[in-house]
Amino acid sequence: MTDSIICAPMRIEARAIRRGLRGSANPPEVLRTGYGTTRAADRAGQLKPDSFGQMVVMGVGAGLTSDLSPGDLVVGTEVGLVTCASAPLLAGELRRAGLPARTGRIATVDHLVRRSERASLAADGTLLADMESAPLAAAAAGRPVAVVRAVSDTPDHPVAHIVSGGLAALRSLRAAAPVVERWAGACGSRRVLLAGPRSFCAGVERAIEIVERALESRGAPVYVRKQIVHNTRVVGDLEGRGAVFVDELDQVPDGATVVFSAHGVSPMVRAEASRRGLAVIDATCPLVSKVHAEARRFAADGYTVALIGHAGHEEVEGTLGEAPSSTVLVQTPEDVAALRPRDGERVAYLMQTTLSVDEAAEVSGALRERFPSMRAPGSDDICYATTNRQAAVRAVAAESDLVLVAGSANSSNSVRLVETCERVGTPAYLIDSAADIQLGWLTGVSTIGLTAGASAPPAVVEEIISALSGLGPLSVSERVTTTESIRFGLPKEVRQ
Ligand code: SF4
Repeated sequence: MTDSIICAPMRIEARAIRRGLRGSANPPEVLRTGYGTTRAADRAGQLKPDSFGQMVVMGVGAGLTSDLSPGDLVVGTEVGLVTCASAPLLAGELRRAGLPARTGRIATVDHLVRRSERASLAADGTLLADMESAPLAAAAAGRPVAVVRAVSDTPDHPVAHIVSGGLAALRSLRAAAPVVERWAGACGSRRVLLAGPRSFCAGVERAIEIVERALESRGAPVYVRKQIVHNTRVVGDLEGRGAVFVDELDQVPDGATVVFSAHGVSPMVRAEASRRGLAVIDATCPLVSKVHAEARRFAADGYTVALIGHAGHEEVEGTLGEAPSSTVLVQTPEDVAALRPRDGERVAYLMQTTLSVDEAAEVSGALRERFPSMRAPGSDDICYATTNRQAAVRAVAAESDLVLVAGSANSSNSVRLVETCERVGTPAYLIDSAADIQLGWLTGVSTIGLTAGASAPPAVVEEIISALSGLGPLSVSERVTTTESIRFGLPKEVRQ
């Protein structure tokens, strides 16, 4: 049995693909399947079910929308009646290789697409039309299948430009061939272990709901100081609905509504908003507000507050601002050694809510050793959501070959989940979406742990599972270490 086959309708397409595979030690077999719907259907009927493990259909095609250019690659998500679930993985890998790749629906028609037809074909979101892919993809009969078509002509570069467009398309097919081979190499059966709990925490859900309700009740634009939560998907979605994210209040017009993010702000920011007459809605997580209150209380009692956290994080900036002359940021045991409190008997510590439990314990241990009478917060500052997600991913990492953590690079708690896995010796990768999964990571991997940071939407986890299922049979199970039922009330400004 040949593991992987690449179906290419025309000789010229097959040749470009074979050239692209020249450096490969064990290239997939490239089958020339014939031009047009009838030949493709005939050839599909001749493919023996057990003659291949996975199939890729490659060739050129007609771009249907004006935002496509000759040479662009379209990776099919749906091709005829076939769903190509791993399309985001392949498109992401193509983009990382420097190729202009998009995902979208591909239609197969029985004639060359006429100029007048493009708009109607594109009306349901279809990006590209060809004359062969659907019957060939159907012949995969449930095995992993991918369809990659290079645009030869578009509404703005119609068939009259086919020579230059066709050459650009063939160049792209050739360049895409080694990437397609990596996709084929990543195919195989796997299992996914989901960490429970994962994804949104109560503070993030509350912050998002505050912005949504503000948009509903006050209309767009609603300004939000900083990212409401550290997730590109969430921010992009709210932006699309009329939220305007700004770095500082001087970007907010006088009298406008401004939401403070879940990470909190310093008193200086509150004072500035009040001076400007801005309508403030505070989405600071109540667990961050608790740390702010502790900072004020310790400082008022004459304590030097050692704040364990990461420099530059918005939450840390906000907490430091509560008592700037009494609070010192300590990030490492070395920072503890360098600490010069006013009175060694009056030292207290606080923590950023999204720290690694292990890392924070190391720094608080160093503080305790140096200042035995040090005061601690009333209850843990590392919040329940951070603690629970780290415990859950630790359990999953122990059983996994690698762990995928859904979350954005600036999400502290998501980065801590990666570090938690690495601490137990399991490689882990932070990804914003399925498209960020590098196919090489999956080589030799049979069990994938999967979690999401507290700011990452559950939908991203679903998308990752769906994309992985396109690489072969996938079993999904969950390891639940604890369940969560915490909910926070909304501020009065958006309660109605
Ligand atoms: S991670 Fe913790 S502190 Fe941060 S918003 Fe969620 S519950 Fe609040």
